[in-house]
Amino acid sequence: MKVLKFGGTSVGSVQNMANVKSIINDGEKKIVVLSAMSGTTNQLVTIAEEIKNGNVEEAQNRVAELEKGYEVTVDSLLSDAALNEDVKAYVSKVFAFLNECTNETFSENLENRIVAQGELLSTYMFNSFLNQEGVSSALLPALDFMRIDAFKEPNLDYIKEQLNAVLNVAEDAQIYITQGFICLDDNDNISNLQRGGSDYTATIIGAAIKAEEVQIWTDIDGMHNNDPRYVENTHPISNLSFDEAAELAYFGAKILHPQTVTPVRADHIPVRLKNTMDPEAHGTLISSTTSENGIKAIAAKDGITAIKIKSARMLQAHGFLKKVFEIFETHKTSIDMITTSEVAVSLTIDDDRNLEAILAELDKIATIEVDKNQSIVCLVGHSVVNHQDTYKLFQILQDVKIRMISYGGSKNNISLLIDSKDKINTLQKLNDYLFELVTL
Ligand code: ASP
Ligand code: MG
Repeated sequence: MKVLKFGGTSVGSVQNMANVKSIINDGEKKIVVLSAMSGTTNQLVTIAEEIKNGNVEEAQNRVAELEKGYEVTVDSLLSDAALNEDVKAYVSKVFAFLNECTNETFSENLENRIVAQGELLSTYMFNSFLNQEGVSSALLPALDFMRIDAFKEPNLDYIKEQLNAVLNVAEDAQIYITQGFICLDDNDNISNLQRGGSDYTATIIGAAIKAEEVQIWTDIDGMHNNDPRYVENTHPISNLSFDEAAELAYFGAKILHPQTVTPVRADHIPVRLKNTMDPEAHGTLISSTTSENGIKAIAAKDGITAIKIKSARMLQAHGFLKKVFEIFETHKTSIDMITTSEVAVSLTIDDDRNLEAILAELDKIATIEVDKNQSIVCLVGHSVVNHQDTYKLFQILQDVKIRMISYGGSKNNISLLIDSKDKINTLQKLNDYLFELVTL
């Protein structure tokens, strides 16, 4: 069986939902994972923020406004009177719940319950739409089988067992519809797989049922060789290895949740990225096969903080790095890039929630300098570090100020740390040197 995930834009309008219907209705049994309609999760996050800030009235206004939008969508999606009425009743129940939430005291648990409603709405609506169109489908509630453990990792044994049980109950359906993103935590509370987590849901399900293939359908024709939001003339990459895709997703390619390929790579289950608006386009196939060497793609990740740690005692002293790493470990903050010299070490983090506490401890053993608003630009490709064209990357040094370079950490990745204000220029210049073969 295949698992197909459709993102927010794919279910973001009645027209797009009709496209999704024609893509999935091919006579093959499959599991379909849906995101919330585009914009909804952002709205729900804002509602939670308003509650957190004590702006109950503003939160209620936003709930009312969102509800109106859903009523309009239901009317244009469902002409069948009975289904229309049933879905309206569901929508009204969800919004009554959201209204009740506005009177609760803010907690992370409250926020998780609020943001879960987007996927519950989109799947309920889409399943009813398929019923109206005569397509045999059944709703599989993700909260009946999707669960993370205390380390926020999917609990795959539990998921396998529970998912098979719910699949057996709805055995006759042709198409199973389920919610991306949402799950239970190890205390049975509603939680989620972080923003963009529907991709991750799809590959977790793929691993649990040993799917033939996982397809991620979005509004772009695959993973591009550079960020199409900032650089002109980018093009989709037709094939990527799991390693290449994992590096790109982690270091900023917005199209995939960073963990997407993790669940499926061990079982060699291919992941195909496809475009709902252009189903015939090849897209990107992520698989165990590695193709040609050289730099295949460039991605950038913002919001990085660089910390330079300098100590006279580091000189020929062993154990210094251990002390540094222990401080980050105590504060549950992972380090992305690291470079060292004889007297200093520079490293980066993307989660600065515990920065103050970390700096206070580092301060006791070293002199520190902090640079915020940095970006990691990551160049990915099979064996890039060995490739004959890779030297062209260093042409960039004449145009952009580079704060750190990481070369050789893995043979598939070279990372540069730059000031975020130089990002667009850097991406464009790298594109020119590496892909457009500008002669210098
Ligand atoms: N709806 C969630 C989000 O917007 C999950 C997803 O779309 O993948 O982050
Ligand atoms: Mg996404």
